[in-house]
Order: sequence, then C-alpha cells, then structure tokens
Amino acid sequence: MALIVQKYGGTSVGSVERIGAVADRVIRARQAGDDVVVVVSAMSGETNRLIDLAKQIQERPSERELDSLISTGEQVTTALLSMALQKRGQDARSYTGGQVKILTDSAFNKARIRAIDTQGILEDLKAGRVVVVAGFQGVNGNGDITTLGRGGSDTSAVALAAALKADECQIYTDVDGVYTTDPRVEPRARRLDRITFEEMLEMASLGSKILQIRSVEFAGKYNVPLRVLSSFVDGPGTLITLEDEIVEQALISGIAFNRDEAQLTVNGVPDSPGVAYAILGPVAEANIEVDMVLQNIGRDGTTDFTFTVQHVDYEKALAIVRAEAEKLGAREVSGNAKIVKVSLVGVGMRSHAGIAAKMFKVLAEEKINIRMISTSEIKISVVVDDKYLELAVRSLHDAFELDAPIALID
Ligand code: ADP
Ligand code: ASP
Ligand code: MG
Repeated sequence: MALIVQKYGGTSVGSVERIGAVADRVIRARQAGDDVVVVVSAMSGETNRLIDLAKQIQERPSERELDSLISTGEQVTTALLSMALQKRGQDARSYTGGQVKILTDSAFNKARIRAIDTQGILEDLKAGRVVVVAGFQGVNGNGDITTLGRGGSDTSAVALAAALKADECQIYTDVDGVYTTDPRVEPRARRLDRITFEEMLEMASLGSKILQIRSVEFAGKYNVPLRVLSSFVDGPGTLITLEDEIVEQALISGIAFNRDEAQLTVNGVPDSPGVAYAILGPVAEANIEVDMVLQNIGRDGTTDFTFTVQHVDYEKALAIVRAEAEKLGAREVSGNAKIVKVSLVGVGMRSHAGIAAKMFKVLAEEKINIRMISTSEIKISVVVDDKYLELAVRSLHDAFELDAPIALID
C-alpha cells in the first residue's frame, strides 16, 4: 500500500462536475489500495476574482488582509471535494492550512513553509479517511493566514508529500504532462516521459508556469518523486527525477519563455568602479528583483548598462534609475516593456558545444533581433521583442527537432 499526495489545479476543480470527476479519481486510487491526501487549488479564476475585488477597494491593500482574502478560494474547494467524496461513500475530511498547522514565515503573499504537523493527517489516514487540504495557504507563528505566491498549491502538495514521506506526489492539471514547450504556443510540442529536477527547476525559473518554482526546489531537496498528469485523461504523465535515472538523455529538453520581463538601459555612464552598485543598489533597496544584467566594454571613459525586471516593477525601476542616472551624469535612460525572454534548457548542453551558435543562427534566419543573451551550464536565454515570441519558440522547436520522439546526444 502506497501513500500518494494528489494535487488538483484550478481547472481540474473548476466546476461542481469537475469536482465530482476528481472525487471519482481519488476513489479509484483508494480502491487500488493507496492512502490518499488531496491538495486542491481554488476554482479556476477565483484567486484572480478575489484579487480584483481587493483592488477595487485599495490599489495596494494590506498584505495580511490580502492573504486572508485570497486564501478563501481553496477553502471552498476542499469542503466541496470532501462532500463529493462522502456522497460516494468515501469518508473524507477537509482542512485549511491553519488546521493542519502548515507553519510558514510571515512573508505575506510569498510565504515559505517552515514545518508541517502530520499527526492529524496520519490519524485520519489510519481511520480510512481521505484527507483534503487547502493548497496555497499556511499560518505564521502568530496564527495569521499566509499564502505561498501564485501557483503555490504545487508547493503545498510537494511539502506535504515530503513531510509525510509519501511514495509519490501527483500534480493533476489540464495538460497530460510536462511538454517540450508550452503546447499553447507550439501545438507540436511533445510530452516528456521524464525530466530532471534540475531541468524542471530551470524551466520553471525561466517562465514555464506548469509548476511553481518552489515546488520543484522542495521536490529536489527532499527527493520527492513528482509526477505531472492530466485530470481529464488517463496516462503516465511526466516523472520529474534524478539525472542518473534517465537512460536516453536528450540534448535539449525544452524551451521556456517569460513574457513578464521589461528592460532598462542607461547609456553613457562613467566607466568607473561602483557604477553598477550606484544603479542597482537603490533598485534592490526598493525590493525590485533584477534578472539579467549586462554591461558593455567601456569606451571614451563611459559605458552602457542594461538590466531586466518584472513588468510590475517596471515603472518604479525606471523612476529610480532616472534619478540615479542624473546623479551619475549619464547621457540617457531608456526602457522597453515589450520584450520576452526565450530559453533553451537541457542538461545535455553541458557536454555539447555549438548549441548557442545554432540558436543564434535560427533566430537570425527568422530575422529576429537578439537584445540580450545570458547562458549558464544547462540553459541559454535570449531577450527578443515580444512580437517574435511565437516565431522564436516554434522555429527553435523545429530546428532542435523537439517534436521528434528522442533527440539523443550522439
Ligand atoms: P493548474 O491550474 O492545474 O495549476 P497551470 O495553469 O498552473 O495549471 O499549469 C498548466 C499550464 O501550464 C498548461 O495549461 C500550459 O499552458 C502551461 N505550460 C507552460 N509550459 C508548459 C510545458 N512546458 N508543458 C506543459 N504545460 C506548460
Ligand atoms: N489559487 C492559487 C493561484 O491561483 C494557487 C494555485 O492555484 O496554485 O495562484
Ligand atoms: Mg499551477
């Protein structure tokens, strides 16, 4: 008998009918002899609706009150799913994060899980119950409700699986696994049977919203077997696993993209020590996360400096940089919020040269101008104009033959 944690995302619990279908699926797992803990998201669109309500009252609502509000969507689905299970003759109990004692820090809206009390859950399982836990939420040391950031139910599920030492954490969603790229952008994308934690972490960090980054971090750290599957159709899904368990390693595993980037450039700043700090220091102090940074070779005593931030921070960052640039006597500050970052990801890159060159060639042939480039051991990212997103993703997908069954390292 195995212990399985199943997580169902917003679309999977998007209506009363869908909740019924989830109950049927949970019961099938029970009938196969497994203990099941279920983590649910809010019904699709609900979290956005709640955020929108708050914004109608206050543009920047208190983070504590916002968490109290947006955590409610998950409480609704836990109770409805428990009812659907009970109606089918399966004993079940729903719990909020606070009831379970999913203890987090106090960083409202982006809290981190510190500890989970598993005792109550284990007692329920022993009594033959299915335990239904609200995803996305926890409680801090003062008993305040916290939430884990958008997509956070994935992290609730993996953290519960780690704490319970579950045999598998299954993430049920509206696609039947992790694909070579978002199938909404490239319909020829192919489902991967397996992907490494490391690659999945890169894909998530580089913008693939299929799994929340922290859920992959958690799964890698605690070695939780993690599988992404569809709640609509049966199938093996994608197993996220260790590198040495993958027999046929592809050169490139996938293409990620991030629409949520904006670029800021300062031209003609003095090419002297402390300039990067003078520009980025105040940006960091304003709690703005900087992604890519690029500085040109200096000429005539001046240099150019470019970096990217998230869209929400763009205007704020631009104002800060304008003020700092003036103090530094820079020639000009410009910004561009209509950019995207497209990245190739694959552990196979470590042992293979020429991938970057091929990527640049493909983009050149499509006449796509590259604005920034950044590389690491297992990824290459480029920043391009947002109008080229689909073209860039599809032409790279095609050139690297990601739709073919296996693009093996030779
Ligand atoms: P849920 O509500 O179940 O958490 P999400 O919307 O968070 O679902 O994640 C599923 C979506 O992730 C898919 O509908 C798909 O468009 C998107 N996605 C992005 N990148 C990928 C990828 N590489 N493989 C599969 N789906 C992806
Ligand atoms: N409901 C939350 C969100 O929409 C958490 C989740 O679905 O994972 O972000
Ligand atoms: Mg999600």
